[in-house]
This record gives sequence, C-alpha cells and structure tokens, in this order.
Amino acid sequence: MWKRICTDRQPAIFVDRDDTLMVDVNYCDDPRLVQLIPGAAEGIRELRRAGYMVIIVTNQSGIGRGYFSVETLGKIHESLRDKLRERDADYDAVYYCPHLPDDGCDCRKPKPGLLLRAASDLNIDLSASYAIGDRDLDVEAGRAAGTRTVLVLNSDREQGENCKAADFIVSSLEEAAKLILTGTRGRGETGV
Ligand SMILES: [Mg+2]
Ligand SMILES: [Zn+2]
Repeated sequence: MWKRICTDRQPAIFVDRDDTLMVDVNYCDDPRLVQLIPGAAEGIRELRRAGYMVIIVTNQSGIGRGYFSVETLGKIHESLRDKLRERDADYDAVYYCPHLPDDGCDCRKPKPGLLLRAASDLNIDLSASYAIGDRDLDVEAGRAAGTRTVLVLNSDREQGENCKAADFIVSSLEEAAKLILTGTRGRGETGV
C-alpha cells in the first residue's frame, strides 16, 4: 500500500493561457492587462476539486523577442493567480516556452516538450490527462504527449484543419470541465 501511494501518478489538465484562460492581448507585458475568459475560473476550479493538477503550458516568444522579461511574465502569472483565487480557483504550475519560432527548441507548441517536462517533474499520468486550448497547436501538443485533447472555440476564429483531431470541441473551459468530469467519451474513443 505504501509503495502504491508513493508511485501513483497524477492526472493533469494542461491548459493553454492566451485565449483559453485569459484574454489574449498580443504579447501581454503588463499584469494589469490580465482578464479572465468567461467560464475559465469555474472550469479550472471544478477540475482541481476533482483531483486534476492544473498546469498552464504557454508559448511566450515575447521573451525571446525582448518584448518583456521573465520577471514581468512572473508578475503576469501572479495576477492571473489572484484573479483565479477570487473565484476559488487556482493553478498548480506554469511551464512556458520563451523561444522564437526559428529557435528549433523542443518546447514551443505544437511540440510536446512543455507537457513532457511537467509530466516528468510532477509525476503525471499523461494517458489520464487532457490538453486544453483554443488552437490547433494546443491539440497537436497534447496528442504528441499522449493526452486526450479539448479544443475551446471561444471566439469566432475559424476552425483549422487539425480541429478534427481534438477529442472534444467546446465553447468554454466550464463546458470542457463538465465533459471531462462526467466521463463523456470523446470522438473516436471506444467503450471499455
Ligand atoms: Mg491560445
Ligand atoms: Zn521552447
């Protein structure tokens, strides 16, 4: 029993930041600009209560471009945490890619590096986890890491080709949480 508890891996929600958790303001460089997307705090809250770790995975090439510092990014994430806590929600960790698209790193989504690093650091069971985001690259990163995937279409953005690859397509994080927590099966999943 002792061994089992110590080796149990946790399920997680890997959630995109911009236009999934908070309104994208294009290279956010000021904590005062943080504004939650409707339903985001509620969805995160329910998923954490159900035992999922919530890990933000976000491309932040604004650092590589010199638009803002790592320190500023930290302040933005503190502000995001404050706004989530006002609604009884929170996150467990943030993993970000600071690189430029041409840097050839292994962590800029759609590469799965951020998810794989978090899974290793935090003992996460990827097959029991979900990647949630508003863009194809979020879905691709999740699939490459071995999670199930949810596309949140919370704007009028046209669905890309790869949207067809998401297990679920929803209109808010709140809706994503409901689907996950009721055990609804995604597209293409077969029964046990
Ligand atoms: Mg996004
Ligand atoms: Zn990177």
